[in-house]
Amino acid sequence: MHVVIFSVVLVGHSNCGGVGHCYDVVKDEQQAKSQPNGPILRWLTPLINLVRDLGVISLPKPEAMSIIANENVKMQVCQATLLEVHVEAHYVGC
Ligand SMILES: [Zn+2]
Repeated sequence: MHVVIFSVVLVGHSNCGGVGHCYDVVKDEQQAKSQPNGPILRWLTPLINLVRDLGVISLPKPEAMSIIANENVKMQVCQATLLEVHVEAHYVGC
């Protein structure tokens, strides 16, 4: 059986609770508060690592969240390019 998929759309959105939570986790780490753990935080680890790598914690949270959301979509597009079934991937951002 073969499945033919013509398009996969990867999207982010403003005021994302997941992005905001990852921002808070990294901010708390810098303030020597608790270390993240638990299944949801493990699932969010790639996004938490992205927040660390972007160095946006010093920015106001709304500004940082916008950057993180856009960069997260770009990261997901890059991940899609690694799929064996991948044909073509594009980032169309604002
Ligand atoms: Zn969200």
